[in-house]
Amino acid sequence: MDNNKLADLLFPEIDKTPEDYEKIYPTRWDSDEAGDVIVTRLGPSPTGFIHLGNLYGAFVDERLAHQSQANSGEPGTFYLRIEDTDDKRYVEGAVETIIKSLGFFGIRFDEGATMDDGSKGEYGPYYQSQRGPIYQAFVKDMVRKGQAYPCFMTEDELAAIRSEQEANKETTGIYGKYAEKSRNLSYEEIEANIAEGKSYVVRLKSSDTSGCGNGGKVRYEDREGVTYIHVQDAIRGDVAMPANDQDVVILKANGIPTYHFAHVVDDHLMRTTHVVRGEEWLMSLPIHVELFEKLGFELPTYCHTAVLMKIDEETGNKRKLSKRKDPELSLGYYRKEGYHPQAVKEYLLTILNSNFEEWRAENPEADTDEFKFTTEKMSSGGALFDLDKLNDISKDVLLRIPADELADFLLDWAREFKPQAAPLLEDKEYLAKILD
Ligand code: GLU
Repeated sequence: MDNNKLADLLFPEIDKTPEDYEKIYPTRWDSDEAGDVIVTRLGPSPTGFIHLGNLYGAFVDERLAHQSQANSGEPGTFYLRIEDTDDKRYVEGAVETIIKSLGFFGIRFDEGATMDDGSKGEYGPYYQSQRGPIYQAFVKDMVRKGQAYPCFMTEDELAAIRSEQEANKETTGIYGKYAEKSRNLSYEEIEANIAEGKSYVVRLKSSDTSGCGNGGKVRYEDREGVTYIHVQDAIRGDVAMPANDQDVVILKANGIPTYHFAHVVDDHLMRTTHVVRGEEWLMSLPIHVELFEKLGFELPTYCHTAVLMKIDEETGNKRKLSKRKDPELSLGYYRKEGYHPQAVKEYLLTILNSNFEEWRAENPEADTDEFKFTTEKMSSGGALFDLDKLNDISKDVLLRIPADELADFLLDWAREFKPQAAPLLEDKEYLAKILD
């Protein structure tokens, strides 16, 4: 098969190459200037629901970037990328909600999507939905190199394969013999399918990458005939998993990439150094490693954060915070209930870093930003969230805030959430005296 011809057949309009994009988005720092500078991002989906998990991750991102420095002393960058490739989930005004809700807790982005649905920075577009031609240029290049191929299998065919695999107690998915049919289509067959208007996805042609190694960032190990990858996670240390063998979808039928592909291309081109994301992504890491290897991109440092857990009031067991059962999962809850953002921040830091409480005891008056946050002190098991503890910490935090600032905060809160009480609080001097 002439892969160049196939690439042109699939993507006739794509004329930029990966090299062009490397030039458009150069590295942020020359290697001799970079020092230990860190670039992080938050990649929320614009579903309109912003939760404690987002804030938890955003704190890590923000601290890592802003604590770090290039040799010039300039701090790192924290940017906002909107992961809106799934249009079903787009909710009007969601970006504003994300920026405002995190802003309430003192989280500010240096770059990326902005309030007015615009963006700031040189590495955009920061909305994945606007990056179609970029992803397609990279997919086209993979097709050209024989690393990806079109797959015309219908939902029914996929379902039949799945049932067969389930019946045989095999791993589900498209790999090995299940991938053969699509992998072996001839150029003429593909051309005819396209002429008939058949819809298709593009799949990764998975293969052994153990000769790569990503400049030492990935180690391969053979365990009884199975290839394992080892990656150093900044929170979890050495993570070992079987290498990917699935021909995963990288481009959906509508030309939009899957999360896997968008993550790899975006974090590379936006020059992210540290990817902080929830532990639910850990199991797809082998797919990402294979994509980084094949695209020839340097692997970022992964920081897979622990899931937020709570003790269930009824059963007494630990469980994940749930959107349906736990109002405290929503960030709006804290604002509405009148929690001071500093208290929530202080509490999250105690969950995030095991040495924060000790530091606080030694530095009772210090600003939280003076605390040196490290990923090594983060727990990789479930982080336990407890409202009673938050209330406790809240008392200490409120004592440290000057009364007139607290008066402003209280008045703002009352105007929004208890307007009937607001007039009673308008005499700010008096209010400050009471609070003192
Ligand atoms: N859009 C993904 C999410 O909302 C982001 C995951 C990541 O940070 O890579 O979970």
